[in-house]
Amino acid sequence: MRTFSNENRQETWKAIQQKNVDLLVIGGGITGAGIALDATTRGLRTVSVDMQDFAAGTSSRSTKLIHGGLRYLKQLQMNVVAEVGKERSIVYHNAPHITTPLWMMLPFYKGGTFGRVSTQLGLTVYDRLAQVKKSERKQMLTKSEAMEKEPLLQADGLKGAGYYVEYRTDDARLTIEVMKKAVQLGAEALNYAEVTRCLYNDSGAIIGVRVHDHILQEEYDVYARTIVNATGPWVDHIRSMDNSIDDKSLYITKGVHLIFEKSRFPLQQPIYFDVRDGRMVFAIPRDDKTYVGTTDTHYSDSYIHPTITKEDEQYLLDAVNEMFPSLSLHKKDIVSKYAGLRPLIAEEGKSADEISRKDELFTSPSGLISIAGGKLTGYRKMAEKAVDAVAAKMKEEDAILYTESTTKYLRLSGGEFEDITSFEGFKEQMMKEGEERYIDKELMNRCLHTYGKNCTTILSIFDTLDPEKYPPEEQRFVLAQLHYSYTYECMYSLVDFFKRRTGWLYFHIEDVQKYNNIAACYMAELTGWTEEEKTQHMDQLYAHMKRVTV
Ligand SMILES: Cc1cc2nc3c(=O)[nH]c(=O)nc-3n(C[C@H](O)[C@H](O)[C@H](O)COP(=O)(O)OP(=O)(O)OC[C@H]3O[C@@H](n4cnc5c(N)ncnc54)[C@H](O)[C@@H]3O)c2cc1C
Repeated sequence: MRTFSNENRQETWKAIQQKNVDLLVIGGGITGAGIALDATTRGLRTVSVDMQDFAAGTSSRSTKLIHGGLRYLKQLQMNVVAEVGKERSIVYHNAPHITTPLWMMLPFYKGGTFGRVSTQLGLTVYDRLAQVKKSERKQMLTKSEAMEKEPLLQADGLKGAGYYVEYRTDDARLTIEVMKKAVQLGAEALNYAEVTRCLYNDSGAIIGVRVHDHILQEEYDVYARTIVNATGPWVDHIRSMDNSIDDKSLYITKGVHLIFEKSRFPLQQPIYFDVRDGRMVFAIPRDDKTYVGTTDTHYSDSYIHPTITKEDEQYLLDAVNEMFPSLSLHKKDIVSKYAGLRPLIAEEGKSADEISRKDELFTSPSGLISIAGGKLTGYRKMAEKAVDAVAAKMKEEDAILYTESTTKYLRLSGGEFEDITSFEGFKEQMMKEGEERYIDKELMNRCLHTYGKNCTTILSIFDTLDPEKYPPEEQRFVLAQLHYSYTYECMYSLVDFFKRRTGWLYFHIEDVQKYNNIAACYMAELTGWTEEEKTQHMDQLYAHMKRVTV
C-alpha cells in the first residue's frame, strides 16, 4: 500500500494525473487540510498541494490554543463565541492527544480594563454561549487565592482574578493529523509543490493549475472541477495570479512569541493579562519552558520567514516584567522565538487589534474560491463552509450527490479513541510499554501527546532498530519517531521533523542540538541522501536554529 511518504512522490503524481479530480486545494495549512478532509469524507476526489511543508505558514506559528473565543466577547461577536466554544470541544474529542485543557487565570487590577463585576459577567456569558461543561465553568478568585496559584504575579493593585479553561494544542501537529486523516480516506496531498500559474478554458473559467515540484524539480498541470485557494497570508498572491483582486483584500498583521526556560520564568499557571496599550497577552507554561505572546502589528516584509524586530521583543519583555516584576527578564533570557502572520480581511478605519478574525469566502469571476481569515479553532467549520460552496458550485454544473459534512464525529489521525477516558487508559498502557523498553518517561509522554494512537507504530519501529548500532534507548526512540514521520507523515527534511512534526525547534531546542547529527545519519541510510544532500539538510536545520535563537 502507498503510504503518505515522499518516497512515493512519483506514484502520487501518477495517481493525480489519472484521477478525475473534483477539488484541488492550494495551501496545506490548517484551512487547506481541513477542506481536504471535509471534501474527502463527502466523496470528492481531492488533491492538496503546499509550496512549503504542510503547516509551514501561520499554522505552526500561532499561540497554540484551541480558544473558547473570549476575545470575541469583548468585541460583542456573540455568534462567534457560541460557534468557537462548540468547536473547541469537538477538536478535543477528535484529537485528545494534542489538546490539553488548562485553567487560565485572568487577573484584574485597580484601574485596569476589567474589574470583578465585568470579569464575572463576561465569563458567565461566555460559559453559557460556548456551552462550557460544568466541570470547566468559570471560578472567581480572591487576591490571595490568585497569588497562591501564581506567586510571580504583580501584587500591587491586584483585586482578584477570573479562572476559566482554555485548551492548549500544537497547531502544526493538528494540521498534520487532519491531513493524514484526509490522505487515509483517499485524498492525495503533496508538500513542496507550488502553484505557479492558473489554467483557464476559452470562456475564462479556471480549470486547473501548474505546479512546480520543488523536490523532483518537475512541472505538472493538474486539472480539477473546482479550485480552492486556502493559502492564508498568500491568498491575495493567488488571487492576483487569477487577476481577481477586487475591493476586498487581506490585511496582514504579525504576532510574535518568545520562549523562556522554566528555570528562568517559573510560571506555574497560564495567565491572560492586559498590557498598558489595552492589548491582551498570554503567558503559558509548556513542558520545561514558558512562552509569551503575542504582538499584533501591520506587516509587509518576508512571508516565508516573518522577521522579529528588537521592538517586538522589547514589547513582550516589558509586558512580562510589568506583570511579573520579580523576573527582570532580558533579551539574553529568550531561548527561542517565532513570528506568525494573521491573514485578516481588511476593514477600513480599524487597527490591527480591532479587525475581526472572522473568515470569509470569495468567489472570483473565473470560479476560483478563496477563503481567508478565521482561526485554528474554527478550522472544521470553515472547511464545512468552503466545501458547501464547492458542492453548490458543482451541483450547478452537473448533478452530484450532495452530502452534509460528517467531520464533527470523525476522529483525527492519532486521536482514534472512543472518548477521553480511553485515551488516558491508552496512555497508561503505553507508559508501561515504554518502561519495559527503558524509554525515558518524559520522552514517552511527549511522544504520546504528539502522535497519540500512532505511538504503537513508533514502538514497533523502535523494536526493529539495532541496539548495538544505536545503543541508548532515548536515541533509538527519537529515530523511531523520525522513521515514522518519514514513512507516514510526508516529512522531507530535518526541519520538517524538528519544527513541525515534533515542535522541538521551539520548545526543546536542546534536543535538536542533541539529536540532529544522528538524525541526519539515520535519514541518509533510510533514504539514500548523498553526503552533499546530508550537508544541505544539516545546513538548512542550522539556519532555522539560528533564526529561532538569535
Ligand atoms: C500570532 C498568531 C497567533 C494565533 N493564535 C491562535 C490561537 O491561539 N488559536 C487559534 O485558533 N488561532 C490562532 N491564530 C490564527 C491561526 O493560526 C490561523 O488562522 C491559521 O493558522 C491560518 O491557517 P491557514 O491554513 O489559513 O494559513 P497558513 O497556515 O499560512 O497556510 C497557508 C499555506 O499556503 C501555502 N501556499 C501559499 N502559496 C502557495 C502556492 N502558490 N502554492 C502552494 N501552496 C501555497 C503556504 O506555504 C502555507 O503553508 C493565530 C495567528 C497568529 C498569526
